[in-house]
Amino acid sequence: NQSEDKLIEYMDELEFLAFTAGATVDKRFTQRLTQPDSKTFVGKGKMEEIRDYIKEQKIGTVIFDDELSPSQLKNLEREMEVKVLDRTNLILDIFAQRAQTSYARTQVELAQYQYLLPRLSRMWSHLDKQKGGIGMRGPGETEIETDRRIIRDRITLLKDKLKVIDKQMGTQRNNRGKMVRTALVGYTNVGKSTLMNALSKSDVFAENKLFATLDTTVRKVVIGNLPFLLTDTVGFIRKLPTQLVESFKSTLDEVREADLLIHVVDISHESFEDHINSVNEILQEIDAHQKPMIMVFNKIDDFSYEKKDEDDLMPGSHKNISLEEWKKTWMAKSKFPTVFISALTKENFPEMKKMIYDEVHRIHISRFPYND
Ligand code: GDP
Repeated sequence: NQSEDKLIEYMDELEFLAFTAGATVDKRFTQRLTQPDSKTFVGKGKMEEIRDYIKEQKIGTVIFDDELSPSQLKNLEREMEVKVLDRTNLILDIFAQRAQTSYARTQVELAQYQYLLPRLSRMWSHLDKQKGGIGMRGPGETEIETDRRIIRDRITLLKDKLKVIDKQMGTQRNNRGKMVRTALVGYTNVGKSTLMNALSKSDVFAENKLFATLDTTVRKVVIGNLPFLLTDTVGFIRKLPTQLVESFKSTLDEVREADLLIHVVDISHESFEDHINSVNEILQEIDAHQKPMIMVFNKIDDFSYEKKDEDDLMPGSHKNISLEEWKKTWMAKSKFPTVFISALTKENFPEMKKMIYDEVHRIHISRFPYND
């Protein structure tokens, strides 16, 4: 059943997030409710089941695949007597771990304080002995006892600091001249950095973890004598915390101000179509959805096709459809130039480069009509 599949995929993704944050997942619990319980998110019976398991197995942390309200978080921690994290907190924690530059750290810190502010009263006062670990890095760890006022002051300060950097970055962008600007966008872990490396022969950090890239990297790329700028940006994810979208304004400005978006998709991933939708939603949120775009379906080397018997054919299942069929469908469906590649083996690179060249060239000559 399809919604059952979705549930498993969501849990897979959450487990991958937990892994990226440095945790190992011991067990998964799911529950079907028409609406989450307003006090404890899960129902009473489920909560007891989870609590018993925690006690038996001496589990240290429970992670929920949604943003919990401040009171849900407080109630759950009281009931379960362990650290409770929600999806937002987990993502913020990964971002905190990954932030390399002072700019990225400032952005993440701001997002963390904004998350923390309404949740201040909960705090892990009863868990003092277990400090450290996931969800405790950054402000959660050091400022636990500080009051709201101090945090508000800190938020104001960070916002001011970001405003200054945003301005500097805006100037920097303006100083990059009239070269056509392209930005890689896509769900996290689809291969943006790998593609960036392959195109610019640079050495951008690529890793099989989520959000390897937090800071934008801008590189000059030349295809067929035509130079243009290529930016690698932070990966998108389903339910990207709004605090992050806000504080990553300048990073996302790279996308907003790009002339051309290169939307990278991991076709080997079961839910790649959901990923495309998530990315498009975020593009819409930051008002970048009407830009020229190229669709690059990556990881074709890793695509596996397992046609099942008619009987247990799962409608819509990714693996029942061959790569050729996917190609045909998406070439017909997409209103953008579409190409299928492998950033790893460089299969179909000439085709992709030609496509990028054509688009960049088109934008370039619309800008310099007499120069070409
Ligand atoms: P990003 O988060 O979108 O920047 O993704 P990365 O470039 O960091 O890549 C995520 C993972 O996917 C890494 O382990 C890469 O080696 C892997 N990867 C990237 N491109 C390909 C590809 O074409 N084929 C396969 N099999 N793996 C790839």
